[in-house]
Amino acid sequence: MPRRILLGDECVALGAVHAGMTSAYAYPGTPATEILEYLLEHRRKHGRPFAAWCANEKTAMEEALGACFVGRRALVSMKHVGLNVAADPFVNAALVGMHGGLVVAVADDPGMHSSQNEQDSRFYADFARVLCLEPATQQEAYDMTVEAYDLSEHFGVPVLLRLVTRLAHSRTAIEVAAEPRPENPVRKAPRPQSWILLPGNARSQWHDLLGRQREMVAWSEECSWNRLRLNMDDRELGVITTGLARNYFEENAGELGSLPSHLHIGAYPLPLEKIRRLAGQVKRLLVLEEGYPLVERLLRGLLATPLPVLGKLTGEVPPEGELTPDNVRPALGLPARPLTDLGGPALPTRPPQLCQGCSHGHMYHALKQALAGQAESIVTADIGCYTLGALPPYDAIESCVCMGASVSMAKGASEAGFRPTVAVIGDSTFLHSGLTPLLDAVHEDTDMTLIILDNQTTAMTGGQESIAPSARLKDIVLGLGVKPGHLHVVEAMPRKVPQIAELLRGEIAHPGLSVVIAVRECLETARRRRKLVEVKPS
Ligand code: SF4
Repeated sequence: MPRRILLGDECVALGAVHAGMTSAYAYPGTPATEILEYLLEHRRKHGRPFAAWCANEKTAMEEALGACFVGRRALVSMKHVGLNVAADPFVNAALVGMHGGLVVAVADDPGMHSSQNEQDSRFYADFARVLCLEPATQQEAYDMTVEAYDLSEHFGVPVLLRLVTRLAHSRTAIEVAAEPRPENPVRKAPRPQSWILLPGNARSQWHDLLGRQREMVAWSEECSWNRLRLNMDDRELGVITTGLARNYFEENAGELGSLPSHLHIGAYPLPLEKIRRLAGQVKRLLVLEEGYPLVERLLRGLLATPLPVLGKLTGEVPPEGELTPDNVRPALGLPARPLTDLGGPALPTRPPQLCQGCSHGHMYHALKQALAGQAESIVTADIGCYTLGALPPYDAIESCVCMGASVSMAKGASEAGFRPTVAVIGDSTFLHSGLTPLLDAVHEDTDMTLIILDNQTTAMTGGQESIAPSARLKDIVLGLGVKPGHLHVVEAMPRKVPQIAELLRGEIAHPGLSVVIAVRECLETARRRRKLVEVKPS
């Protein structure tokens, strides 16, 4: 078999190509961005499969559903919080009786390396009553993706492929198929009424889905991703690992006097019989799982005889952050490894900062000048490089909750009686989730000022193109109904800071809605673009 050196994310992308996937959709988000990046590159080189960034994760999920509706295989990828945005179509996709296979690759971020929470996407699979696969290695990420399409078509449900940062962003050699499977032909769903989720249809679809749960559990019981190894000579401890945590257990297992019985879970729903067989052989169970204590919680209602279940809920395993080979040792009864002092000077800490000369910095200077005379003010913000405006030297923003919340929160604060309120949002985030709250603000002519920082890219995830070009942003805002007299486009240059501050001061004083679009290309994107031009043959 050919071997390739790939990131975990890239294994998913190539697995999908080799499974005959036709269409891939995504919104950029660390640690999942590289899945679609790989597919875009693949499309550039080979013409297929279709791959595109979308306005947000919900539109991505729905576009993928459209491909499945006509019998094709589709991939949708996102970071874990993106699944909150796409939850509506995801949960309902479980009911329609999937036609072409749908794989939903979601990369969780335990430890919050680049996220606002560390939610565990496995709960969504359980919630939607669909299959979930959780690779422990890059090879499994590839193999599971290939298999996930067959499973999706066999059981008629989307399959959630759950990755975590450490796997998504590490690279190794894997074996891959020599040839991709052919794509499914275009063929409309044979029972189109199952896609019409009117209550009468939805009830019968829900009944069908519940009926298939038993088959899914039976598959999970037999599948090679869930492996039980019993040690009849040691009945003290049984270990259950899921996904990546298997590696941390195996790395330490050699130091245990005798190897405990071990069940590894890579596929859900849970293999109930295997769990009961393990529980029947041991006095205690230890659960090592990355993320929330999902398996640990479910176990408590499953076991016929009360058995101590140790894990995150009982404090033997750290309840937050990533697991590591070191921090699972106490739960296995192993001493801490001695730390090696490498000597050398202690390095100074370096907090994250905006790039030198970034236009966001200029806008924050202007905003601070504009608000200087106010006794109090509120500046809500959003997710992107500009969130760094919360840190010194700017200290300019006061919130970052979820995509688009800057606009809605400023509206809510203003309508609750606080003035002045200013919202700051990037162009990509605005197009993702800021349009609808701005529509609300237009409807009420809310007394607030919205600053759209248009750097013409999704900078924080590596400079993906915004879904609408900068030149159209003003028309989009006008189209939502913002009054032309209170909509301004400014160039976010340092020499223009006093002028922009003056403009902001006036709009903040205006007792209604105003929008200022601050335009200047991200320096990093501009640098990359120049480099591309330089290397192009003349
Ligand atoms: S990457 Fe671009 S947007 Fe982000 S801080 Fe640097 S210049 Fe600013």
